[in-house]
Amino acid sequence: MSFDGGCLCGAVRYRINRKHLNAMHCHCSMCQRVHGGAYSTHVVVRPEQLQWLAGRADLIAYESSTEAYREFCPACGSQILIHGQTDDGALSVPAGTLDGDPPLTQLGHIFATDAVHWAQPPEDLPRHPGWPPGFGPQDP
Ligand SMILES: [Zn+2]
Ligand SMILES: [Zn+2]
Repeated sequence: MSFDGGCLCGAVRYRINRKHLNAMHCHCSMCQRVHGGAYSTHVVVRPEQLQWLAGRADLIAYESSTEAYREFCPACGSQILIHGQTDDGALSVPAGTLDGDPPLTQLGHIFATDAVHWAQPPEDLPRHPGWPPGFGPQDP
C-alpha cells in the first residue's frame, strides 16, 4: 500500500510505502509559526518508507531548533519534511500535504500544553505535554 502527496505548487512529490498511516497532532510554537495555524498534524515514517518522486534536491532546509530541521518547497513554501528529531532517523511528513483524505490513525496530541486557547486539543485522544513515550530526542 502507498500514499502519495506533495507541495502546494506540485514541484515536490513523494510516496509513503506502508500499510497504514500514523499521525500525531503537534501544538508546539514552531509548528504554529511554520503552518500559520493552531497546530500541525504529522505522519511519522521511517526513511525507507519515504520515496521521493520529484523535487527532493530542491528542498530548502531550515534548522528550527537543535532538534529539528524543516524542509520547504522553494517555489510555494510548503513544509514537506521534518527530521532530526529522533536518533533513530524517524521522519515526519505534514499530513495536510497528502493527496485526498487517506485514513489516518491519530496517535494523540503532543506539546499539548503549548496549545492556543482558541484550538484546545480535544479529550478523545491522548494528550502529552511534550514528546510521547518512545519519541523525541534521546538523552546521550
Ligand atoms: Zn511547491
Ligand atoms: Zn511541533
